[in-house]
Amino acid sequence: MTIRVGITGAAGRMGRALTEAVALAGGELALTAAVESPQSTLLGADAGELSGIGKNGVIVVGSLAEVIDDIDVLIDFTVPAATLANVALCAARSVAMVIGTTGFSAAQQAQLERAARGIPVCKASNFSTGVNLCLQLLETAARVLGGESDIEIYEAHHRHKIDAPSGTALSMGEVVAAALGRDLHQVAVYGRQGQTGARERETIGFATVRGGDIVGDHTVTFAAEGERVEITHRASSRMAFARGAVRAAHWLAGRDADLYDMRNVLGFDEAPQVRRPLENQSHE
Ligand code: NAD
Repeated sequence: MTIRVGITGAAGRMGRALTEAVALAGGELALTAAVESPQSTLLGADAGELSGIGKNGVIVVGSLAEVIDDIDVLIDFTVPAATLANVALCAARSVAMVIGTTGFSAAQQAQLERAARGIPVCKASNFSTGVNLCLQLLETAARVLGGESDIEIYEAHHRHKIDAPSGTALSMGEVVAAALGRDLHQVAVYGRQGQTGARERETIGFATVRGGDIVGDHTVTFAAEGERVEITHRASSRMAFARGAVRAAHWLAGRDADLYDMRNVLGFDEAPQVRRPLENQSHE
């Protein structure tokens, strides 16, 4: 059976990568709709051509309602207001959704969770399979090594990034702290200079590097007496997120209506996101 995939934000940075990722997935997945903002100057363009893979005959339209009946799963990487409008339409037409948009307020998140009761939704702030695997490995590493090692988190990004540490570094810190029963707000150390004194075992240190075109590097070090374990992830392109989102779309087709995340897609957790204990939920 072919799973018909639609993309909202099709002309955006992620939208273009998603068009390519759906084409690369091949097999059961087929791109059947590409949607942009009604104000976009790219309405009428060929989505394949925009993404650089060559014409695929899927024309970018300015309204999801126009193409909703051609879609089984919608992949949405846009802006919160657009995503919420799209969830309402998908819920009304029983279309599953993969949501990568970030920046929802608490009220918008609650609205999204209510809408997701009617349809299967997979939402994650980082769809990279590798990052999600690292979060799982970190939980195990923290449980085994955390009590007897000093934990330090290093991250590096391109020179245009305006916030630090990265959201992914903070997620890594949250996972490690939760596994050790520590409160990250209490134990995080975000910079060191001058007479710092000896390191306290319970602290979790963060170090940030900014430069050039680094897409995103993260390393968590567990440094004990006589040995050191390091868990590293390096992203080299947006395809890491796009491939994860397409994998989620494949996994989601035909599931029960609920709110899932990449932990479910990768088989790390059976329980959907909203029914999971709080300390187990991923950082947004
Ligand atoms: P972008 O600005 O390049 O693309 C967003 C696109 O959405 C634009 O082309 C815009 O015109 C379009 N859009 C806006 N309103 C729309 C509407 N009503 N209908 C259809 N299209 C609409 O941004 P981006 O870098 O592609 O990122 C998009 C979102 O995805 C951001 O929230 C970003 O933080 C998030 N993101 C998430 C992950 C993840 O793994 N979860 C990874 C990368 C980016």
